[in-house]
Amino acid sequence: MSGTIHVLNGSGVDTGALGATVRRLHEVFHAAVELHPFQPDLTRVFDPSRSQYHSSGVLKQMLDDLSAHGNPADKLIGLVDVDLFIPVLTFVYGEAQLKGRCAVVSTFRLRNELYGLPPNERIFRDRIEKECVHEVGHTYGLVHCRDTECVMRSSTYVEEIDLKGSLMCPACDEKRRGLMSD
Ligand SMILES: [Zn+2]
Ligand SMILES: [Zn+2]
Repeated sequence: MSGTIHVLNGSGVDTGALGATVRRLHEVFHAAVELHPFQPDLTRVFDPSRSQYHSSGVLKQMLDDLSAHGNPADKLIGLVDVDLFIPVLTFVYGEAQLKGRCAVVSTFRLRNELYGLPPNERIFRDRIEKECVHEVGHTYGLVHCRDTECVMRSSTYVEEIDLKGSLMCPACDEKRRGLMSD
């Protein structure tokens, strides 16, 4: 049983704008996908010395709150709009527990405006979709892929997110099928 993917929207992005993400998660993972509101206590994960938010702390809050989504086969992907980091990196677009239950994605660095470019809603939504599929892929045990078009390719720059697709390459999809049937 593949369980349900719960998209926990703790960002300012309205539910309607997440439709493509929900459909893509369903298409890629062949799982039911549900959208829920999400209110993490971000003040608890704020690091004043960096003016950023520790993404692992958000994951921990999601895990602590798992009683609401208790099926062990379910996955939780949180969406927030604050700037996330892990201590060894300047920033992260998201973080996932490899072969775990939870992942988080931030919209903060996915908006064109952050880079001095005109807003583009379609690009913004595409980036959310790709990063959510990518992080959920990690929760099923998939690791990074070198295929330039594969959604499991890692992205350091936002341009790299734009270059890749929102689907898995045949090799990753094959791995996904194996991991999901374990
Ligand atoms: Zn990754
Ligand atoms: Zn791949």
